[in-house]
Amino acid sequence: MTASAPVQPTSGRPVSPQTPYQQYVYVYPHQKAYRRLANGPLLSELWRTERLGSLSLYVHIPFCEMRCGFCNLFTRTGAPEEVTSAFLDTLGRQARVTREALDASGRSARFLMSAFGGGTPTYLTAAELTRLCDICENVMGADLGAVPWSVETSPATATADRLAVLAERGATRLSIGVQSFIDEEARAAVRPQKRAEVEASLARLREAGFPVLNIDLIYGIDGQTESSFRVSLDAALAWEPEEIYLYPLYVRPLTGLSARHDKDGRQWDEQRLRLYRYGRDHLLAAGYRQTSMRVFQRLGNPGGDGAGDASISEYNQQAGMVGLGVGARSFTTSLHYTTDYAVAVPEVRRIIDDYIATPSEDFRRAQWAFQMDDGERRRMYVLQWLLETVGLPVTDYRKLFGTEPLEDFPAEFALLREKQWLDTGEPDVLRLSPEGMAWADAIGPLFFSPRVNEAMASYRDK
Ligand code: SF4
Repeated sequence: MTASAPVQPTSGRPVSPQTPYQQYVYVYPHQKAYRRLANGPLLSELWRTERLGSLSLYVHIPFCEMRCGFCNLFTRTGAPEEVTSAFLDTLGRQARVTREALDASGRSARFLMSAFGGGTPTYLTAAELTRLCDICENVMGADLGAVPWSVETSPATATADRLAVLAERGATRLSIGVQSFIDEEARAAVRPQKRAEVEASLARLREAGFPVLNIDLIYGIDGQTESSFRVSLDAALAWEPEEIYLYPLYVRPLTGLSARHDKDGRQWDEQRLRLYRYGRDHLLAAGYRQTSMRVFQRLGNPGGDGAGDASISEYNQQAGMVGLGVGARSFTTSLHYTTDYAVAVPEVRRIIDDYIATPSEDFRRAQWAFQMDDGERRRMYVLQWLLETVGLPVTDYRKLFGTEPLEDFPAEFALLREKQWLDTGEPDVLRLSPEGMAWADAIGPLFFSPRVNEAMASYRDK
């Protein structure tokens, strides 16, 4: 992938971030930078020259039983069975058309990884999950029983019958959003649930025997302190999960918390930073290793040592990713594409209804997209590695792009050095310092291109 096009320079010197909590950069660029295409390219053309032997499959299920106050994901609550069933009908049609597009290359496509995200995929019934697995295997050709395969779930929907389907079909990683084991904190985050219900769901997950269990926790909730956070950390640790994700609370436009949020920004930042450091140190002392600002893996087990990790919420951006379902993204070398998406209830419903009614022919073309170029690919590569504890491998970057990261992004790395957010110990790896990792959500946006910043700034939240 060597090319000589220069990186579009960031306009001016990057401004020193005022808050550590700007944006979670898990895939670059953000979906807000995508735009509707009038007559998008055919998927068969997009995938014709891609490496098809190492694809990832991502399926987005946009349904949840309730809407958490902090959530800005693309999902609707309380969808009746006729909607979920019609959604699966459409997903089957989309899968067929997508598979035909991959096959048009004349080469065989192979999926090495799979993930069901959302939303809450286990909002679907056991029978619907079986149907979904059948679509992935029989239509898309993904061998779910043979590859790392991750599924997101919630306490109320992690029922024995659904988990039995997922275990039988070979899911290797189940990720459950708990957020807090303290009922009052869960309520304050507008995720009303009882600890007894959470503990019972974790027992069912362990009983089902998935190789990797991940528990999501949130810090920065109203009234949360180190000692109350410790209650949740210890309650999670009691299940010896292979992974724990610690998410800072964000309050974003159009979410349930945005209407009643009146926190003092600076104090809230301090609370979140304090709790982050506390949680990080607590998990490190408990035998976990940190792989990014959010991710902690238990040492000494297959999941914790990285094998079997199918965490496509941290998408493998370098392999081609094929997305199915409304709101799912797909990545080719030249184009990232998706469908429309939204946060506000009426828009979410309209978009899901539109997806269900989409004629099969329309799935042959990319609908909403962002055109990648060589500079954007460099930014994507930097963000993928720099924000992980493993760091950015300079030799690999040079091999891929024929240039030096420090020369492509001189001002950005100078700022990181000045703030002591960069470890300077190893010449061949650009790695964030522990304090840099605490500021990862502010460091990521420093590497956005002017084009992406402009597109995101002109996006209208809906
Ligand atoms: S955080 Fe998860 S469970 Fe809550 S509304 Fe969002 S997708 Fe659904």
